[in-house]
Amino acid sequence: MIISRQKEFNDILQMLAEKNVFIIGCGKCAKKQRVGGEPEVKDMKNRLEAAGKNITGWTVLSSACSIRSWEEVLSVNLEIEKSDALLVMSCGGGVSVISGFAGKEVYPALDTVSLGGVVCNEVVTEQCGMCGDCTIWLYGGICPVIQCAKGLLNGPCGGAVEGKCEIDERLCAWDKIFERLKEHKKLQNLEKINEPKNYMKKVRVKP
Ligand code: SF4
Ligand code: SF4
Repeated sequence: MIISRQKEFNDILQMLAEKNVFIIGCGKCAKKQRVGGEPEVKDMKNRLEAAGKNITGWTVLSSACSIRSWEEVLSVNLEIEKSDALLVMSCGGGVSVISGFAGKEVYPALDTVSLGGVVCNEVVTEQCGMCGDCTIWLYGGICPVIQCAKGLLNGPCGGAVEGKCEIDERLCAWDKIFERLKEHKKLQNLEKINEPKNYMKKVRVKP
């Protein structure tokens, strides 16, 4: 599950210079999080029209990042060809894939923030920050890269008050890590200093 959130509407308006816009939603992650399914696409259409845009049409693809055939998409959405730009309500993966086919301006309506998951039908956010060097087992399966507000590989920072992070509303990730390691009888993991990650693994090499 890719975790995304909608951009501020004014930011979308600033990006979107073109008048004739077709909106594409995503029927997978964005729908599940209620940021790019049919209700959100229709809401975006209404807001953009109220702001003076001409919305030529809209669709929700079954998965914006996995398109079998762009020709197939075009054949059932003829208005795409008549549009100056596409506004895609999916993660960056979907925007990137569609940009590769569209041959016209493609804009993201969402910001992609992390990898999450689904537990008992509930979306859980911030499960993985895609660091490229996974050491999550050292922390009892709770990733500090993404769940600690400071991304500390060695914690806690000491700022938590009654289990709450000093930065924002979240529970202190390092409190949770401590409890999990205790439960797993792995508290010895906290005795060693974790080295910085191997960021060479994040180097973008040509696939
Ligand atoms: S250690 Fe890196 S790869 Fe593993 S869960 Fe955390 S961010 Fe994701
Ligand atoms: S209070 Fe906990 S979660 Fe917040 S920054 Fe410090 S160690 Fe990280």
